[in-house]
Amino acid sequence: MDRLGIVVPCYNEEEVLKIASEALRGVLNDLVSKGKISEDSFVMFVNDGSKDATWKLIEEEHALYPKQIFGVKLAGNVGHQFALTAGLNTAKNICDMSVSIDADLQDDVAVIEEMVDKFHEGKDIVYGVRKKRTTDTFFKRTTAEGFYKLMNAMGVKTVYNHADFRLMSKRAMEQFSEYKESNLFIRGIVTQIGYETDCVYYDRKERVAGESKYPLKKMLALAFNGISSFSIKPISLIAWVGGIIVFLSICAAIYAFVSYFTGSVEPGWTSLILSIWFLGGVQLLCIGLIGQYIGKIYVESKHRPRYNIEKVLSDQEA
Ligand code: UDP
Ligand code: MG
Repeated sequence: MDRLGIVVPCYNEEEVLKIASEALRGVLNDLVSKGKISEDSFVMFVNDGSKDATWKLIEEEHALYPKQIFGVKLAGNVGHQFALTAGLNTAKNICDMSVSIDADLQDDVAVIEEMVDKFHEGKDIVYGVRKKRTTDTFFKRTTAEGFYKLMNAMGVKTVYNHADFRLMSKRAMEQFSEYKESNLFIRGIVTQIGYETDCVYYDRKERVAGESKYPLKKMLALAFNGISSFSIKPISLIAWVGGIIVFLSICAAIYAFVSYFTGSVEPGWTSLILSIWFLGGVQLLCIGLIGQYIGKIYVESKHRPRYNIEKVLSDQEA
């Protein structure tokens, strides 16, 4: 039977911790009784350096349910993405599949069963995808949807309307742990792992209690991190703008010469306007060019795995 580990990053979640623990234990018990996961399946709360009583509550829950509630305490606040990574890397050694979910239960715990079913059908990664964003404010909805569109335009492959609610098999977690970069955007990495994936759909609810730990500032930082750690397109844009300006300066040259010969210009204007445009364009082009090299160095310095071999057929026993 397969062991499930539910990984929950928590930052100042004292208001929701008990509720989350109860709901997730309910999910475990239900799935165990249906024979879909093993009895030793667990919930792993990762305390991301909370300043409130979160860790104390995790300890209490662990004392009450030592076989079902596990805890990982990080030494300081490292942010959602790293807290989740810490949890996944800890859980991957002791479970066959993990489900990552936020502590605030905005993601529907009822679809975890569907995820587990897909796992049994042989899927390695199952994405939880939001159907509608009716519970989000208009502002959050438009900024978040703009975020996915921008990511796509910048060449970062992500699953639309999927946050970090997903099931991963042991081997998917193992491959994920090979991405050792410090600019971490998990959603971008997961789509690079490969293997068979699937989606389950759900409606995102309101937070059960407490308030969002993802203000606009953190969202923008996440978006910029996502783009800059997966794409060097912004650098190419500089080169493009430079090229366009050089082209425009040639047009301007033609215009200036025509004006010069028709005699309708101030003396000195032609040479001045031409050098400004032309030099500006050449400078941008050169910055873009240098940027291309820096971009390559940046990509190399990540030491990402270049492929993930799923299976080998040969005459050797594995
Ligand atoms: N979180 C975390 N570290 C942080 C910020 C948030 O571990 O520095 C956790 C938080 O406890 C929650 C999840 O990340 O479980 C998502 O945060 P939140 O629900 O506040 O984000 P939102 O749903 O509003 O985007
Ligand atoms: Mg939330």
